[in-house]
Amino acid sequence: MSESVLKKEFKGADLQRLRNLVQGKMGEKTSVSSGYTKDYVERKEGEIWEEDGRQWTIKNGVKQTISKLQAVRDVALTPLFCPDCKALMKHRYDNEFYKIHRHCFDCHVKFETKLKATGQWDDYQKQVENSEIDGMINNYEIWVDDLLNESNDGFVTELGEVESWSKVNREKILKQKEEAIEYLKKLKK
Ligand SMILES: [Zn+2]
Repeated sequence: MSESVLKKEFKGADLQRLRNLVQGKMGEKTSVSSGYTKDYVERKEGEIWEEDGRQWTIKNGVKQTISKLQAVRDVALTPLFCPDCKALMKHRYDNEFYKIHRHCFDCHVKFETKLKATGQWDDYQKQVENSEIDGMINNYEIWVDDLLNESNDGFVTELGEVESWSKVNREKILKQKEEAIEYLKKLKK
């Protein structure tokens, strides 16, 4: 691996977001300031900006490229008709329910009623929570990998000191990533 690839940046505010993410405080605003301010701008949830020739945004407190989000959005596009009952999806909640459950609101009401009637409701709830955690792990991995792939001259430690990127630091971040993922996995039921 070349030296330039190893010179990475890890910002103080990013570390705070990592902590927030692990502690489940994803929407919480971070306000870590440090002496190192290379192009650093506080970004808000949903904001879109250009950086290193790519488009970025913040989703669930996680910085990510638009292309990755676009791929997610394409999958989430709502068709005109429900794939299960073939009815036109015109109910005011259809769009919202399709994005999560892949069928219309009516189908989902029927689906939940059936689960409750057959005693499968609790298992289903667990499954939903677990898949939310999986989504969180996925977002988190994309975010850390993006951080490691940014090419900058240094990063800010938790104490606000600027350090140049080294193999040791990179390994530290990867170890931290593994630990955070382990933690998130333990939240699954
Ligand atoms: Zn339907």
